[in-house]
Amino acid sequence: MRTYHQSTRRDLNCLKSDMVIKGRSGLGKSTFVNTLFKATVARRKSGEEEPLPSTTEVKTVSSSLSEGGVRLNLTITDTPGFGDHINNENCWEPIVSYIEAQYGRYLQEEQKVDRLLHIPDTRIHCCVYFIPPTGHSLSSLDVEVLQRLDKIVNVVPVVAKADTLTLEERAAFKERIRADLSDHAIKVYPLQEYEDLDDAPENMKIRERLPFAVVGSTTWHEIHGKKLLGRRSNWGLVEVENKSHNDFAYMRDMLIRTHMQDLIGSTAERHYENFRRARLSTKTTSKVNIVNGQDTDHMEDLNESKI
Ligand code: GDP
Ligand code: MG
Repeated sequence: MRTYHQSTRRDLNCLKSDMVIKGRSGLGKSTFVNTLFKATVARRKSGEEEPLPSTTEVKTVSSSLSEGGVRLNLTITDTPGFGDHINNENCWEPIVSYIEAQYGRYLQEEQKVDRLLHIPDTRIHCCVYFIPPTGHSLSSLDVEVLQRLDKIVNVVPVVAKADTLTLEERAAFKERIRADLSDHAIKVYPLQEYEDLDDAPENMKIRERLPFAVVGSTTWHEIHGKKLLGRRSNWGLVEVENKSHNDFAYMRDMLIRTHMQDLIGSTAERHYENFRRARLSTKTTSKVNIVNGQDTDHMEDLNESKI
């Protein structure tokens, strides 16, 4: 299997990636997106910052990230939590339909007789899934949502508000989540079965770190003349971009630097391909079943009942 992030790093200038951020309300998704923008925009000369709206449903926020002109579109979507007095049944439907609608759009363009050379591509390359920092295990709601998402999109799990857990709790929680994911056969990115030998050591390190335990903040603090994003408490400052404080920087690097090309490539080669095959084979089946206006499925039933 071809992998992308090593061979085409030089092409990053023309990359556009679409991601969704998923999780219950109040977990820090909007803050995370703002943090990502601030942390990246800050390194550019024109440091204009736009506050993002708070989210209650699927909403797209779009911004141009990083020096190289990489464009990252982020869509935030909230999963209503238990006890929200909202029926949680089928709560994955909006996000699943949203992701599939993007594949559907692409497929429609691709099948046109006069198709465009560059088909407008809004396919979702990654779903960043926020897990509440309970310290226990994955909730049944999270399991149900994740089991549906991993079939259609690259899923990157994240423990929200990691600063609310001690280092020991964080390590134990991560281990528990990894065991839960494995017990429920939930496949998260990067997948071992599709990787190149060259990428294996780097991907192994990422897998050992999953789920990323992240801290978000949009507040700047001045420390020794340096402006840092962080969360201040009575006992000190948690620095967002400090790799010994939390995994934000590891995750940011993976999403928009080292693995962006691979996320895009694997979406096209695997997830979109699965969608395309399923969609086209359903169409073929329904065409075969209606021959000369007669329902052949029904005819088969009749024939079988005669036998
Ligand atoms: P959303 O509903 O998932 O979009 O959550 P928000 O981004 O609106 O955040 C909800 C609350 O959590 C706000 O008060 C944030 O300041 C706070 N918050 C966000 N990120 C963190 C974090 O990393 N740690 C802690 N302790 N609080 C956070
Ligand atoms: Mg929000």
